[in-house]
Amino acid sequence: MGSSNIQRVERELDRIFASLGHGMYVVDNERQVLIWNRAAESILGWSEGEVLGRSCKDFISHVDDSGCQLCDKKCPLLTTIGDSHTVFAGTVWALAKSGERVPVSVSCAPLFDDEGRTVGAVEVFPDMTHEKEVESFKDSMVSVVAHELRTPLTSMKGYLDLVSEGDAGEITDMQCKFLEIVHSNVVRLEELVNDLLDLGRLESGRVVVHWDPMDLEAMITETVETFTAMASEKGLWLKSEVLEAVPVQGDYQLFSRVISNLVSNALKYTIEGGTTIRLGREGDRAKIDVEDTGVGIPADEVGHVLERFFRASTAAQTGSTGSGLGLAITGEIVEKHGGELKLESSVGQGSKFTVFLPPASEATILEAAEGGQDD
Ligand code: ADP
Repeated sequence: MGSSNIQRVERELDRIFASLGHGMYVVDNERQVLIWNRAAESILGWSEGEVLGRSCKDFISHVDDSGCQLCDKKCPLLTTIGDSHTVFAGTVWALAKSGERVPVSVSCAPLFDDEGRTVGAVEVFPDMTHEKEVESFKDSMVSVVAHELRTPLTSMKGYLDLVSEGDAGEITDMQCKFLEIVHSNVVRLEELVNDLLDLGRLESGRVVVHWDPMDLEAMITETVETFTAMASEKGLWLKSEVLEAVPVQGDYQLFSRVISNLVSNALKYTIEGGTTIRLGREGDRAKIDVEDTGVGIPADEVGHVLERFFRASTAAQTGSTGSGLGLAITGEIVEKHGGELKLESSVGQGSKFTVFLPPASEATILEAAEGGQDD
């Protein structure tokens, strides 16, 4: 290509980069900025003249939702350069020149020379401010509606009880049966409203973990006691095994909900057989399995179980109702405890949910980093 053609292509590329609506910059292998487009300038406030030739880590800072700094160990650009493949870091917070935090969606791709060697990387980061605003508006709408529904529901339940007990005059057997149906639906609505409010509080960081030594063995025993009646009503067994106990720390009341949700689901989605809760360890972490002989979850749906409102296609076989919020809440609580939730499942054979918890010392470090306010 002649030099005038090269210059023309360069000018065209410059124009394309400049008019791109998404923030974009190019770095070499040392993360020194080679190209910085106009959208990057308007999103982060740094002009091209201020950043060219500088290492991006000196003026850009990416922080994820949990406050974890990505630019040192988990820098998406460094990962891209090191592994020579595209990295999508998702929506993170970028620190602008003004000190303001801007939500951006980061994806990085490696750049190669003619010999196929990685010579740098390009990062594209659309501004997600509008999407974040819509998301937070949606969350606050859900929370307001849920709050407003709670009071009338409590009153409806109270009056239903009065009528059912005959306090407003004698009722027939058929009226009593109909009132029971209304009552069970009011209870379902109440559970949905409470789950929505709890999930909103957990997701927005308004729930604080009260860190104390946590007796998992006692928690499992209590859970078995609570659910034994439900299991025997369905003709299912429910048992626990303690192989080994690792000292852990956490919020007993909050974390009990994890075990209760998993056991309640195990019983709900099982037609024959039963559930085993097993306490043990893997490496230095505590490990709790909740294993059932239930309907299972298809392999292509397993990855969705922690999403809000998700219900697996196998749920219908059990005739059970649900909102699909329980596991979203469970996942949030496990994450707040620095733990991990894994699922193995096979349709028609059963499911095994496993929760891992860090040993007490690591959890104490998390406690120090924990922010947020109680409601
Ligand atoms: P739900 O209120 O529907 O029970 P969850 O969030 O607790 O909501 O669970 C989401 C979905 O995951 C359920 O609807 C069900 O399809 C599936 N699921 C959860 N636990 C199990 C289990 N132990 N066995 C089979 N399916 C399960």
